[in-house]
This record gives sequence, structure tokens and C-alpha cells, in this order.
Amino acid sequence: MALPIVAIIGRPNVGKSTLVNRLAGEQTAIVHDEPGVTRDRTYLPAFWNGREFLVVDTGGLVFNDDTEFLPLIRQQAMTALAEACGAIFVVDGQTGPTSADLEIAEWMRQQPVPVLLAVNKCESPEQGLMQAAEFWELGLGEPYPISAIHGSGTGELLDELVNHIPAIEDIPDTNEIKVAIVGRPNVGKSSLLNSFVGEERAIVSPISGTTRDAIDTVIEREGQTYRLIDTAGIRKKKHIEYGTEFFSINRAFKAIRRADVVLLVIDAVDGVTEQDQKLAGRIIEEGRACIIVVNKWDAVEKDSYTIYDYEKTLQSRLHFTEWAETIFVSALSGQRVEKILELVKTAAESHKRRVSTSVINEVLTDAVSWHSPPASRGGRQGKIYYGTQVSSQPPTIALFVNDSKRFNDNYRRYIERQFRQQLGFKGTPIILLWRSKK
Ligand code: GDP
Ligand code: GDP
Repeated sequence: MALPIVAIIGRPNVGKSTLVNRLAGEQTAIVHDEPGVTRDRTYLPAFWNGREFLVVDTGGLVFNDDTEFLPLIRQQAMTALAEACGAIFVVDGQTGPTSADLEIAEWMRQQPVPVLLAVNKCESPEQGLMQAAEFWELGLGEPYPISAIHGSGTGELLDELVNHIPAIEDIPDTNEIKVAIVGRPNVGKSSLLNSFVGEERAIVSPISGTTRDAIDTVIEREGQTYRLIDTAGIRKKKHIEYGTEFFSINRAFKAIRRADVVLLVIDAVDGVTEQDQKLAGRIIEEGRACIIVVNKWDAVEKDSYTIYDYEKTLQSRLHFTEWAETIFVSALSGQRVEKILELVKTAAESHKRRVSTSVINEVLTDAVSWHSPPASRGGRQGKIYYGTQVSSQPPTIALFVNDSKRFNDNYRRYIERQFRQQLGFKGTPIILLWRSKK
């Protein structure tokens, strides 16, 4: 179940982290493993009046000399807001409104989430009201005087905040698996989608947020819901409007980012192209699970090309050698199309799987016994103290070692292979973090 997220926004030094700590109380940071959540932000669980939510500090909004957001920071704040159900904009009551506050306020008004304005550092109640009143000019409604350090005023702020937070039971089922269908034009993405949907009535739901680059189709198989993120349909419309076939790699990238599992559709007749390789690279970078779907298998001369030969060529041209499954289908005849969903389900399960620390260490102990870590020329040998899974989607395992430089690529690959062989992880990348611990 995904918890609603509240983003904390504001300039540096206004007291954002103090407020986050106040809202989250004694709770410790968690690594949030919902898809779409950027991995380097910290989410803290908070609770108020029967509502649970996560608070995320977006980091200070820093401006350059032209009082414009630094693009990267703006991007980060946008990403945080995109997944949030509300935002708290924190300002400093002791300095009064600054030009940067006005900039941020104007920008916040354009964002698709409700914004509450918290005027921090208002320790004295009477003075606080005066200080807060100055912030009406930001045009974000009532300013709430608070003191993040003392905790005063935060109750009223939270009372208002929870009005914007959906109760847990209202949150849509996130058990669904998000599947992006990507590939070059004409590989058969639309045909594949139609084949999945068949006669069944598709529930078409536009995605929430500002960009509508893809239309989602929700289907169900054996109690499992799949949200198919299709990038083809929109292109078709553009195609009619502009008369040119055009492949937007950015649209494909966005779909990959929203997905749990990506179907990389390859045209069996054309084979792997540079565009396919680009998409594959992005799937790996984003840490998404992936199935390689070789479509139009009906159109291939089977005598000259066995599946085995074909697979070898594919693997050498894509870099999924270790983990992605390949399936040969025909969207036209429907051959093996249903089988894709079974692979998707397995891949999604691996992608979000968590393995206990004791099991991980059992695998490690065994792996090291078979094959000891290399010794450097200087003599000291690499030593693995222990490992633990720190997050999922994709599974990420931290390995604490004496000196990470002592572990060469060969050995690192060996350890990864051991994890795969012993623990499965079909269809998902896994990430190993080698951490030196003196
Ligand atoms: P951030 O950069 O926005 O995350 O700000 P911090 O939470 O790190 O706080 C910046 C400074 O403001 C620190 O020195 C805090 O002690 C101080 N500060 C934070 N909250 C309050 C408050 O409610 N009252 C006062 N007087 N100072 C505060
Ligand atoms: P998209 O651009 O990736 O959405 O591709 P389409 O689904 O529009 O398909 C492009 C062309 O390939 C169409 O003419 C389809 O009829 C054809 N096509 C799609 N799937 C198959 C298949 O499995 N076998 C064959 N032979 N043709 C296919």
C-alpha cells in the first residue's frame, strides 16, 4: 500500500529539515520502495489524526544570480511534487518575504498540488501572527505561524494538511503491475496492446499529472491487474496530424520511468537496431525489470533461424545477458502473447522481492568459500564482512567489505552470479553496492 506523500519546499535555512523531523517525531528514515520514487530522497513516515503519510524534504530551492531556479533543483522539486498529494511551503518569519519566496510562490501556484504556507521561526504567539500576516502577499492563502523548533502551531498546520491527504482506504490499489510497451515505430506495439486487450472492454484512464504522453489501459488476468502504458497510440495521432513518422525517445523514456516492468519490443525481421540499444540502456539505468519481446516471429523463416541462434545474436547486441527473458511472439496471430503476462508477473515479483539478511549472508559465505576474494599485489586480501538488502525495485544489496578497491570486476560479477543462481531474481536487474568499512 502506497502512503500519500507530502513534499516540504522552501529556500535553504528556513527550517525545512527541522520541520520534517518535528512531523516525523522519533521515526527513522525509510527507504521507500514504491516505483517512481527517486532513490536518493529520504522519506519519513508521519501520523496525524488517524492519517498516515510520508514527508519528504526536497532540499533547498536554490536560485542563481538571475533569480531563476537552478534547472536541476527545479527538476528535483518537480519530481517530488509530481508524486505528492500536498506540499508545505516553508518560509522564514524572521526575515519576512524575500524575492526568492515570491518566485517560489508563483511557481508553486502552477503546480497541481494543494500548498500550505508555513511561516516558521514564529516563537512568540503575538509576534508570530504579525510575522505570518506579511506572507499573505505570496498569494497562497492563509499563512500558518509555526515554530518547528518548539512545535508550536504545527498542530493547526497538520489539521489543515490532513484535509488534503486521502485516507488509506481511498488510495487506489497499487498491487497492479505497471508495464511499459516500448520499441521503435512499427515493431507492433499497438498490435500487441490490442492483442492483450482483445474483446475485453479496456478501462482507459489518463494518467494523473500534467503531461499526457501515454494512455494507460488496465487489464486483469487471474486476479492480477496490469496497467499497460502505451506510447504508440499518441504517436499515431501525431502521425495523422503532421504526416511524418516520428519516434520520440523521450516519450519512451518517460514510460520506462513510470513502469515496473518494460516490454522491449523488437521486430524479428529487422533485428536489434541502435534505437533498441538506446532503450535497453535506459531500462538498465532506471533499474527496471524487462522482458525482450521479439514480435513478428510468424514472418521469420524458421529454417534459417532457430530461436537459439536468434537469442545469441540478441544477447550480443543488447546488454541484458545476465537476466532479461526473451519471448518470441506474434501479435498478429496472438501466438504466445498471453505468456508475456506470466513473464511480467514473475519479473515484477523479483523486482520487488526482499531477501533477509541471514539468507544473503549464507549465499555470501558459500560464495567466498568456493572462490576467495582476490588479493592485491601488496598482499592484503579482500574481505566481505556482511551483506544486506537495502532496497527493492530493483533489489539493491549493500556489501560491507574491508576495501572495495580489492574487488575487481570479475569477482563482482561472480558474486552477482551467485546471488542470481541461489536466489533467482528472474527478469530484474540487481544492484550491488560495495562499501568499504575500515
Ligand atoms: P533547512 O535548510 O530549510 O532544512 O533548515 P534547517 O532545518 O536546517 O534550519 C536552518 C536553521 O534555522 C537552523 O539553524 C535551525 O536551528 C533554525 N530553525 C529551524 N526552525 C526554527 C524555528 O522554529 N525557530 C528558530 N528560531 N529557528 C529555527
Ligand atoms: P507500432 O508502431 O509499434 O505500434 O506497430 P503496429 O502495431 O502499428 O504494427 C506495425 C505493422 O506491423 C502493422 O502493419 C502490423 O500489422 C504489423 N505487425 C504487427 N505485429 C505483427 C506480427 O506479429 N506479425 C506480422 N507479420 N506483422 C505484424
